[in-house]
Amino acid sequence: MRVAIAGAGLAGLSCAKYLTDAGHTPIVLESRDTLGGLVAAWKDADGDWYETGLHVFFGAYPNMLQLLKELGIEDRLQWKQHTMIFNQPEKPGTYSRFDFPDLPAPLNGIVAILRNNDMLTWSEKIQLAKGLLPAMIRGQQYVEKTDKYTFSEWLKHQGVSDEVQQDIFIAASKSLNFINPDEISAVVLLTALRAFLQEKNGSKMAFLDGSPTERLCSPLEDYITARGGEIRLKAPLKEILTDADGTVSGFLIRGLDGAEDEVLTADLYISAMSVDCLKVMLPPAWKHMEYFQKLEGLEGVPVINLQLWFDRKLTDIDQLLFSRSSLLSVYADMSNTCRGYADPNRSMLELVLAPAQDWISKSETEILQVTLAELQKLFPTHFGEDNPAKLLKYHVVKTPRSVYKATPGCQQWRPDQKTPIANFYLAGSYTMQRFLGSMEGAVLSGKLTAQAIAVAYPLANASSLQMQTLQSATNAATA
Ligand SMILES: Cc1cc2nc3c(=O)[nH]c(=O)nc-3n(C[C@H](O)[C@H](O)[C@H](O)COP(=O)(O)OP(=O)(O)OC[C@H]3O[C@@H](n4cnc5c(N)ncnc54)[C@H](O)[C@@H]3O)c2cc1C
Repeated sequence: MRVAIAGAGLAGLSCAKYLTDAGHTPIVLESRDTLGGLVAAWKDADGDWYETGLHVFFGAYPNMLQLLKELGIEDRLQWKQHTMIFNQPEKPGTYSRFDFPDLPAPLNGIVAILRNNDMLTWSEKIQLAKGLLPAMIRGQQYVEKTDKYTFSEWLKHQGVSDEVQQDIFIAASKSLNFINPDEISAVVLLTALRAFLQEKNGSKMAFLDGSPTERLCSPLEDYITARGGEIRLKAPLKEILTDADGTVSGFLIRGLDGAEDEVLTADLYISAMSVDCLKVMLPPAWKHMEYFQKLEGLEGVPVINLQLWFDRKLTDIDQLLFSRSSLLSVYADMSNTCRGYADPNRSMLELVLAPAQDWISKSETEILQVTLAELQKLFPTHFGEDNPAKLLKYHVVKTPRSVYKATPGCQQWRPDQKTPIANFYLAGSYTMQRFLGSMEGAVLSGKLTAQAIAVAYPLANASSLQMQTLQSATNAATA
């Protein structure tokens, strides 16, 4: 069957990949001139890549890891030491580490926490362990019920002090959803903590060895097109056309550069656009339906990504760093962490600015200045009076609406991939799947959409190998 997909982020591409595995023919329409959506990257005039966001992969990403294996590119992930490194604002330029020993889970996580004496006192460790215990032993069902609380509220209920929150969870919350613990739903932190503590390598991190567009999305494109699928860049969906019964009759593609609009017809249609883009495009006939009305509860959160090239090395650390600054979230020296960006003599810092609400409409110069001031605290020896490090160039990428903002109560608004419209499906990390707004969530959502279609429309000519691939994919998705 011909399946039209609007959106070539990871959800749209993963969906297209698994549809080809099931014997279907996807036609992917992407409004921009590059693949990847929130993982998209561009080359500047010097040939350097700049990205929408600093992206790390985790051991607890089974669907992403399987996808990379199926594409034959799992060696492109550069796994780092199993550790989490936090800046210490009270001692500028120093770090506190949680080192995970080579022990089974959850013992390795417990030892990592017990061994860290910079960020938590013994009484705080006991308080935290007691507080988190219900989430660990009562399972995901318990965790889902915590969606009515912000993480701060939930910690308070559990008797965990504000100091513990300050120390660790502001950094974790900002890295997971670009907002603070007094805004984020408890579900997000607890789901991540469970995944990280339950699997031995759950919190182990990897960096891709180059830009996601080139090293991840291009192989997906090759896989899809080699199997009869099609991907069209600069092909924005303008309108979802419907028949009198409300089913989709076609995708109207906006003609660019003076070209005529074009109607694309297919057997089935999928939106793999962000929830914000979908909401403005809902056909009038669907707007009264409860399923689509619920989407109003979801909205993308702003975030800003900066890349700064310096004239010297600022650090040798080959890992993600949690800044613990109120301005910034996580950052990394990509000249150490990423083979494709390696430079033995100069640093290229990639930093996430979050929460970005107050900064998203400011100029790039203002954003740069405030970030550089923050770097003086993170790298005091390199930005002192004498011979400070020189900024060679920079890029700022603002995303006013990125992943859905996971505030309390949002879980109930997240839609299933199957919609009430017979020939229309959704994919996207905001749709209901257990990995929240992440690359893993996007890949899983696309896979679940492909699975729903493969089950509803099994093809006589799909080879048993193709079906086995999707089935094994689905098993990983639901395990
Ligand atoms: C700064 C930043 C850092 C992040 N860090 C991490 C991380 O470390 N680890 C992690 O797992 N996740 C991270 N994420 C989240 C991750 O990038 C997203 O969850 C994931 O990429 C979302 O994929 P998606 O396909 O669901 O949506 P999107 O990537 O938003 O894809 C939607 C696509 O639809 C296209 N589109 C929109 N409108 C139209 C239209 N009218 N017609 C056609 N196409 C259209 C868009 O251009 C886009 O390509 C980060 C995100 C950001 C922004």
